[in-house]
Amino acid sequence: MTNLPLALRTALEAEVPFSTLAVVTEQQARDGTVKTLFRTHDGHPVEAVLMRYRDGRRSVCVSSQSGCPLTCTFCATGAMTFGRNLTASEIVDQALHFRRSVPLNHLVFMGMGEPLMNLDGVLGATRRMPAIGITHRRTTISTVGWMPGLSRFVEDVAEPIRLALSLHAADPALRSELMPVNDRYPLADVVALCRTHWERTNRRVFVEYVMLAGVNDAPAQARLLAELLGRDAFKVNLIPYNPTGKYGGSSREAIATFKAELDRAHVPATVRLTRGRDIAAACGQLAAVPRARAPEPVSS
Ligand code: SF4
Repeated sequence: MTNLPLALRTALEAEVPFSTLAVVTEQQARDGTVKTLFRTHDGHPVEAVLMRYRDGRRSVCVSSQSGCPLTCTFCATGAMTFGRNLTASEIVDQALHFRRSVPLNHLVFMGMGEPLMNLDGVLGATRRMPAIGITHRRTTISTVGWMPGLSRFVEDVAEPIRLALSLHAADPALRSELMPVNDRYPLADVVALCRTHWERTNRRVFVEYVMLAGVNDAPAQARLLAELLGRDAFKVNLIPYNPTGKYGGSSREAIATFKAELDRAHVPATVRLTRGRDIAAACGQLAAVPRARAPEPVSS
């Protein structure tokens, strides 16, 4: 800002923080994924991940809370102590950190926390994203089905922001075992509300389904999922699981068989590319624990 007098620049530097977050560590995976651990001014850990794809997508996965109170059993974040909701500025600053070195074009709220428990912070940040090149159509908010926030999102949010539902099991008993929030807000109600969203906006809801070996990956479970979702309103993302201790990830064959069942039922489905597995930056692995080893070199 050389158009400002030096004295003013010096005063600004001393008194106005450049970011609400301080970088603690940064790691780079072999596939180019970068994971950054930040700390808020009051000491809470926050992680965000930059993912680069060959087709030019530069996607940042941000956190909406420090830790998460919802304790899904397959998730490393759920095992941390919950800190607090992040402010809109703390969310924007995660994206801005990466934006200083690469142009960004996609944003997903799939980092730490349940975004719809912090809808004001999340929307406040999302509405500022177009200024750094991320449009609402390329922004995805992912929820486990937190009904108060989901109702507000469906009723009040006019921007074309994508909605994703972390579903993971169509059988209610199994889902409650994996995700205790299911006891509070039953899946049937959550799916019905997502369907309303599709009817109103004509935008399909993404369904996130993490593939856990021998737990939720049987063909019969795929058929149950297809029955629950139907053909129109949803698109399923099958996510190869990055083991965090308790569960193993499904084999390629099991994932292919599961997808074939969905194909047979004409439910749109894809298998997600995993990124950043070697630095614990993939889905369900964010736990704000800096690793001791040095960043690895990037291969193309
Ligand atoms: S999966 Fe999401 S909602 Fe569940 S514990 Fe992890 S961060 Fe929280």
